Amino acid sequence: MKELLRILGSILLFFLLTAATQVGGIVYLIYRPLGWWMVGRIRPKLLAVTVQLAGFLVVLSACALFVVPPIAEHFGRVPLPIRATADEPVRPARWFYVIANRHYVQPALREVAVGVGQKLRAVHADASLVYLDANFPFFDDFPLFPHLSHDDGRKLDVCFAYRSMKATTVRYDSPSWLGYGYVEGPADSEENWTERCKEEGEWQYDMLSKITRQDRPYSVDVAVTKDMIRFFLRDQRVDKLFLEPHLTRRWGLNKEPKLKFHGCHAVRHDDHLHIQL
Ligand SMILES: [Zn+2]
Repeated sequence: MKELLRILGSILLFFLLTAATQVGGIVYLIYRPLGWWMVGRIRPKLLAVTVQLAGFLVVLSACALFVVPPIAEHFGRVPLPIRATADEPVRPARWFYVIANRHYVQPALREVAVGVGQKLRAVHADASLVYLDANFPFFDDFPLFPHLSHDDGRKLDVCFAYRSMKATTVRYDSPSWLGYGYVEGPADSEENWTERCKEEGEWQYDMLSKITRQDRPYSVDVAVTKDMIRFFLRDQRVDKLFLEPHLTRRWGLNKEPKLKFHGCHAVRHDDHLHIQL
C-alpha cells in the first residue's frame, strides 16, 4: 500500500512539474533515485527531506540556466534577459518565471521587448520592462497553464509600472507576490467586465486577484505605463495587445486599433498587459 501511494505521488508530481515548468517532470524522474538515496542515508528525516528538496531545486535551476537555452534554439525560441542591463533593460518579475522555463519567446518578440525596454529607459531613468509569463521553450501548442494562448513563442505578459503612494519612487514590477493579481479595478461609472464575465459563469476571470493582497501602498503610474503601451503599439511586429476595457478608456487609448478586449474566457487584464506578435 505504501509503495502504491509512493508511485501515485510520483506520477502526480511528474504531471504537476511538467504542467508548471515543461521540463521539471523529466528532471524529477532523473533526480528521483538520487533523492531517495539521500533520504535513506541522512538522519533525521526532516533534514533528509530538506536536503532532497534543495538538491532538486539546484538541479532544476541549473537545467533552466544552462541546459534548456541551447536546446530551445532548435525550436526557434530564445530566453528573455534574466537581468536588466543598460543594453537590455528587461527582467523577470520573479525568479520563478526563469526557473520554471516560462520566459521563452521567438527571437522577434525578444527584439520587440528589448526595444521597448530601451525606449522606456530613454525617457524614464532606471526604467526596465518587467515580464511575467511568456512561453515554454519547446513545441507549439504545449499549453502554459493557466494561459490559453501562450503556446507558440509569440505571446508575452508584462507588468504595469507602479508609484508608491508614500514616496515618489516608481517600481517597474507588480506589488503582487506572484506578479499577477494586483488589480486597477473599474470605478462605479466605468464598464465592469469582471462583473459581467462572472455573471456569465466565468469564475476564473478574477481568480488571481482573490489570492493577492489589494491593500498595498501602490497605484499604477499611468504616465510610465502609457509610454510602455505606446512603444509596443508603434512596433510594426506587434499584432495586438490585451488590456481591460475600462483602462483603455480611462487612459484615452480607445482609438488604438491594436488594443483589444480578450473576452470572458480569459482572466482580467487590469493587473498586467498582454502582447502578441
Ligand atoms: Zn497573456
